[in-house]
Amino acid sequence: MTLTLRPQANPQSGAALVAAASGASVAALGGLVVAGWLTVAVALIQVLPGFPPMQYNTALGFMICGAALLAAALDLRRPTALLGGLAMMMGFATLVQYVFHTDLGIDDLMVETYVLTGVSNPGRMAPNSAVGLTLTGAALLGLSCRPASRSRHLYPALLGSIVIALGTAALVGYAAGVPGAYGWGHFNPMSVHTALGFILLGGGIVGLAWNAAQGQSSEAPPWVPTLAAVAVGTVTLCMWYALAVGPRAGVGRTILPKTPTGPALPNITLAAGLLSALLVGWSLRVEQTSRRRAISLAASNLALSQQSQARERAEERVHQLAAIVEHSSDAIIATSLDGTILTWNHGAERLYGYTQAEVQGRHVSLLHARKQAGDEVFERILRGDLVEQLEAVNLTREGRKIDVSLTVSPMLDRAGRVIGASTIARDITERKQLEQMKDDFVGTVSHELRTPLTAIKGFIELVADGDVGPLTEAQREFLGIAARNADRLGSLINDLLDVNQIDSQRLEIRAEPIDLGPLLEEVAKTFRSMAESKGLGFHVHLEHLPPIVGDGPRLLQVFSNLVSNAIKYTPTGEVGIRARVAQNGVEVIIHDSGIGLSPDEQAQLFTKFFRARHKVVTQSGGTGLGLVIAKAIVEKHNGSIEVASIAGEGTRFRVVLPISSAA
Ligand code: ADP
Repeated sequence: MTLTLRPQANPQSGAALVAAASGASVAALGGLVVAGWLTVAVALIQVLPGFPPMQYNTALGFMICGAALLAAALDLRRPTALLGGLAMMMGFATLVQYVFHTDLGIDDLMVETYVLTGVSNPGRMAPNSAVGLTLTGAALLGLSCRPASRSRHLYPALLGSIVIALGTAALVGYAAGVPGAYGWGHFNPMSVHTALGFILLGGGIVGLAWNAAQGQSSEAPPWVPTLAAVAVGTVTLCMWYALAVGPRAGVGRTILPKTPTGPALPNITLAAGLLSALLVGWSLRVEQTSRRRAISLAASNLALSQQSQARERAEERVHQLAAIVEHSSDAIIATSLDGTILTWNHGAERLYGYTQAEVQGRHVSLLHARKQAGDEVFERILRGDLVEQLEAVNLTREGRKIDVSLTVSPMLDRAGRVIGASTIARDITERKQLEQMKDDFVGTVSHELRTPLTAIKGFIELVADGDVGPLTEAQREFLGIAARNADRLGSLINDLLDVNQIDSQRLEIRAEPIDLGPLLEEVAKTFRSMAESKGLGFHVHLEHLPPIVGDGPRLLQVFSNLVSNAIKYTPTGEVGIRARVAQNGVEVIIHDSGIGLSPDEQAQLFTKFFRARHKVVTQSGGTGLGLVIAKAIVEKHNGSIEVASIAGEGTRFRVVLPISSAA
């Protein structure tokens, strides 16, 4: 078993250590005197010849109390309670004997008393020692319970302080020659070493209670003034009694010479002592209160200075932000909820040509080149949302139209309410012009390429059909290659035109009733032979599907692309088409057991010109535009397309198209 000093003890104070040392010393003192009685070593029983002896029971009580104090310091609660209770019973039984003039037979129980100096009742402990022992036992019992609150430590501490006072009064009595201070009435007096023992015991108890009450805080317990006042008051009462009774009318022998005391002296001592007790208590309380006040003042001082530092830092940040906004090359404009311009930075001056003074307080619509659909933006701002990359056409001071990209964010007050909007405007006129030029270029070039290509394909077919004369096998083969490449070129041009339409948001989708079943069967018919010629299994499973509304040729393009990809990127194994009615529409799944896609590749799958680096991909032709177009077409149908794939195991594309509401 490992023993630790009281765990609730404040680790910085050595109170538990001192209490343990006191307990051990008192137990040793008691043990020595018991040994003295048993071995007739009078020097151990009487400090000096002629001095009162420490009675055997007192010595026994010290052994018990000393051990109990040691146990309390080691936080052994049960032994503390047992030994403390035993000591209290011993002391109390002796008091009962004194009060009721009886003999319970406990005085001479162990040894026959043979030192009779100043002794009225041979073998019986002095009445003040009995009081001390009872209080010590009670205090130790108190220490052994786990107190509910810090103030509950007061009771053991209070009893301990009375025990100290009893011992101190007796010692003072010996030193000052006032026998009434160590001997009450004509009864047995308290010996010198008993007095000392009680001071040690009381000190140890007060120390432990103090330590436990203090806990982890550095403040002294709140009951210290009461404790000091009680201790001083007890000493005062003892001294008052001693002075009032005068020299002991001797039973046995009177030990010290009589002390001349005037009749006023006890009363003066009592008044002065009680006054001192009150003063000590009061001054300690005042000191405690002022210390607490000083601590709380220091704490609020610290909090105040931290607050002001935080405010300074916040102000500095606000200044920095204001400077950044002011000098930003982007136009930054703050408006109130009704659209009134509040602030206008240098960037805005440069972009629009108005100075801050010219626009402040005017409505933001003075910048709009055409009436804008601002309602939806306004609602989103009111909800606290951010509106990003909103493209608009604005007007400068000179009436020039500029394309701008706007980021509008809500401005909130301290309570989090939206009170306005801040808009960052970036000039994208140049970018827009470039985009337009690119669109026009791609459109023109593609059209210009398509016309000669149609002619090339027509003439190849003419020659291949033998219309202009018979062909050799080699000529037929070469014409086949030329025809396939003309087809590839044609589909590349088509893809480029489609992507151009998508980019410029000009992709148009027809809205006609479509039966997906026959459409998918046509796709299957077209690609079955291609799959089988590669040695792949080709599975088609189509449930009965309700009609949808959409663009048949465009959807044919989507599913053809997905199935042709599945065949192209599956060297061995199988591919398939499944279709069924799902919760949110018609679900079409194109699956294969091909090369698959890594998570990285899946993330880039629907971006323009993406093609995986796999050998199977690079060896087969393709533009990397098919899936971009497929996605745009599906989304134009309010549908969705998603991919699930494991590299090396296969891929599954899932297209969901909404069912026509008329169905
Ligand atoms: P491509 O003309 O290259 O097939 P797509 O846009 O249709 O262009 O496909 C882009 C890329 O996505 C392909 O090059 C290929 O790397 C990958 N991919 C598409 N479908 C599959 C599939 N079923 N299995 C594995 N990879 C695929």
